[in-house]
Amino acid sequence: MNRFSYVQAASVDEAVAALAADAAAKVVAGGTNLIDLMKYNVERPTRLVDITRIPGLDQIEETEGGGLRVGALVPNTAVAYDRLVEERYPLLSSAILAGATPQLRNAASTGGNLNQRTRCYYFYDPQTACNKREPGTGCPAIAGVNRIHAILGQSEQCIATHPSDMAVALAALEAVVHVAGPSGARRIPLADYHRLPGNRPEIDTTLARDEIVTSVELPAAAQEFRANYTYLKLRDRLSYAFALVSVAAGLTIESGSIRKARIALGGVAHKPWRRPDAEDLLVGKPASNETFARAANLLLEGARGYEHNAFKVDLARKATIRALGQAAAATPQSQVDKRIR
Ligand SMILES: Cc1cc2nc3c(=O)[nH]c(=O)nc-3n(C[C@H](O)[C@H](O)[C@H](O)COP(=O)(O)OP(=O)(O)OC[C@H]3O[C@@H](n4cnc5c(N)ncnc54)[C@H](O)[C@@H]3O)c2cc1C
Ligand code: SF4
Repeated sequence: MNRFSYVQAASVDEAVAALAADAAAKVVAGGTNLIDLMKYNVERPTRLVDITRIPGLDQIEETEGGGLRVGALVPNTAVAYDRLVEERYPLLSSAILAGATPQLRNAASTGGNLNQRTRCYYFYDPQTACNKREPGTGCPAIAGVNRIHAILGQSEQCIATHPSDMAVALAALEAVVHVAGPSGARRIPLADYHRLPGNRPEIDTTLARDEIVTSVELPAAAQEFRANYTYLKLRDRLSYAFALVSVAAGLTIESGSIRKARIALGGVAHKPWRRPDAEDLLVGKPASNETFARAANLLLEGARGYEHNAFKVDLARKATIRALGQAAAATPQSQVDKRIR
């Protein structure tokens, strides 16, 4: 591990100033991803800015607009089991409980979960080339072992996926990320927070280097999915594994026809994958497998796999149909007994 200095920020302003003062500084929250990456010599910050003592970032509060604001330091467990989140945004609780393990969820923060880095095997191995870790060195995953890699939105530079389950639910709920930086605060819709790799795969998000996430806002409108929702996660084993494909789905159904739909896919792209036209296609239609299949086809349009992950194209299509069926029937995927029946 490289030498680094450690700063405990007492306020958001102090954290931002500490980041601005050192181009190789990094924020640390729960540390469950960053510290691993430092041990592997993948991340080499010269300064760690610990934000865990900043007051006020560990709260869940109601907003004036009728939504909820989740502070960046609220642990994943606390979000998942918060009474208001469970009541109003059960899709978010379900997605968080589908991820990692209880111990990790206790330590992991909301801001850290959003900003966790890809699980691409080559990214974690400094002995190999990797455009995300060392820009310009190449992407061995394209012709290598790529079972967990992207089938949508990838580039010739990088085919990594974003591994967060929570972010997939936040995408379907159209959450807004609140950030603070040297020039003040700003809001970033979740759809614009994570980016596709393009020719800058080393950049995961639209957060500037000297900004931090302060909270995530759940809009009031997304409460309408509290009856008809599901988070369906397909993985190689039932615990302790990242998604091969996951689907966050929310529907509002009136007199048997769909009034509103939101669908986000995880495990398939460098960001949670949404296609508003696939969601619009469902509006005014009956909740049937035939309609769901049409939406799934549009959502997966242009999907392309590689030697070890081509199966994900059909898996994602079938998972989308199954998830929409679960949401329509108000029988969400259980995260206690995770078996899919
Ligand atoms: C074995 C294992 C299994 C896992 N399985 C899953 C899974 O199935 N699903 C899943 O979703 N996740 C899974 N995870 C990942 C886990 O959810 C993340 O490691 C965790 O959410 C990161 O949160 P943290 O607070 O520990 O972040 P840290 O490790 O502290 O930070 C992670 C990154 O976020 C940045 N960061 C942290 N807070 C902020 C902030 N407020 N503003 C800006 N940047 C910030 C840091 O600089 C760093 O780059 C797993 C992890 C492990 C180790
Ligand atoms: S897929 Fe991305 S993260 Fe993985 S080796 Fe290629 S460039 Fe690196």
